[in-house]
Amino acid sequence: MTLVILVADGARPDTLFGAMDAGQLPALAALRSRGSAATLTSVFPSVTGSAYTPFLLGLHPGRAGLPGLRWYDRSRDATLWPAHARSYVGLGGMRADADLTREYRTLFEHEPRSIGGFTYIGRGLNPRRRIGSGWLFGARMAWTHFRGDLDGWMRFDRWLGEEFVRRIVAQRPRVAFLAHPGIDKLSHRHGAESPRVLQAMQTVDHTVRLLEDAFARAGRREELEIWVVSDHGHATVPQHEDLAGTIASWGYGVRAHPWVLRGRDVAVMVSGNAMAHLYLELQRRRRAVWPALRDRWQPLLERLISLAAVDLAILPMGDSRVSIHSSSRGHADVFTAGDGTYSYRRISGDPLGIGDDLLGLDATAAWERTRETEYPDALVQVCAIAGAPRAGDIILSAAPGWDLRTRYEPVLHVSGHGALHREQMLVPFISSRPVTGLLRRTVDLFPTALATLGLTIPRGLDGVSAR
Ligand SMILES: [Zn+2]
Repeated sequence: MTLVILVADGARPDTLFGAMDAGQLPALAALRSRGSAATLTSVFPSVTGSAYTPFLLGLHPGRAGLPGLRWYDRSRDATLWPAHARSYVGLGGMRADADLTREYRTLFEHEPRSIGGFTYIGRGLNPRRRIGSGWLFGARMAWTHFRGDLDGWMRFDRWLGEEFVRRIVAQRPRVAFLAHPGIDKLSHRHGAESPRVLQAMQTVDHTVRLLEDAFARAGRREELEIWVVSDHGHATVPQHEDLAGTIASWGYGVRAHPWVLRGRDVAVMVSGNAMAHLYLELQRRRRAVWPALRDRWQPLLERLISLAAVDLAILPMGDSRVSIHSSSRGHADVFTAGDGTYSYRRISGDPLGIGDDLLGLDATAAWERTRETEYPDALVQVCAIAGAPRAGDIILSAAPGWDLRTRYEPVLHVSGHGALHREQMLVPFISSRPVTGLLRRTVDLFPTALATLGLTIPRGLDGVSAR
């Protein structure tokens, strides 16, 4: 069999399913009618690269080693002197594989008969089984990105799908993974509901049609299974906060891209652009948790929370405790225990809007209890990111309507992602064969893929198989 996983990067469930219902994506609608469809929660940060770790390793981004699109390398063991700041934008994307944990294997390492296209994570892929690799390709991508050439992205996106199908026909992989970047690129520029985004969704539909036609012609229709999923949602961002500039204006020495050689107080590492890791006291090689930082940094925390652009400040507290602060809704603690249960205790308020204290919920119950809130799966997500060795000392999630970076973007953003907020965390999933169990999170897809391929599921993954 061949399992094909297509990432419709940045597709929202409402727009994708809406276009399918309206008859605008006939190949995807046909998949759904034969198989299944669901709305899943992605991961925090809800940003490309980090949000691919669930698909390709079965891990949350922090555990996989990619805590954000940008991060500061406090331990200085992954990055070069003197910046020690990682960004996966443009050519930096080629660093992602080296940053991944060695503790777990990628999908391509589990199944060497694989093909990968336009994926940030490609460890284990034979170069002849990779579409879009090497410095030349990376440089061309960086050029398209930084020039802000959206028509170039559209042509590239269509070419990617066609090349992907040609390679599958020629190389007959057992699993093939392709990211279609078009929906995300156009959503940033025109908004998720723009007609141009529909064109990018039709590119995904086109790839599905080509795949099905190719397998039908070869008499192999029964051997093909297709999944279509997204890595994050999209939300309108009419307002932009220059977070790095604002913190610098308060008198702190700030390190932020592209000026990563200066500033020793705070590194501001923005993702998506609706989340940020903030690292304090950059000379420290080991991470300190908030109780040890409070005396010096409480005034900064209070100023950050008071910004209109900041919805939640998430503080790793050590001992599996995370403190969550909102200026209007107060603060609460989230705990995770050794038995894999999660608790929520309101202190001065209810920043996650759950309406109650929660005690000892397992990951499934924690997902069920938060799925309809503004912060779906928040308990599991904040613990996962706060526990990551490479995470910031203060983690910000932007308020709806805001993002956290104004300068140095090649294309003006009218829509974005990265935050813990609902519109950015929910993603669509469609499969051409029914899935018997319940898929809740994108992190469930990796073990489900291994089960579909008849491979052994390793212990300790963050998701569970729905097959
Ligand atoms: Zn994006």
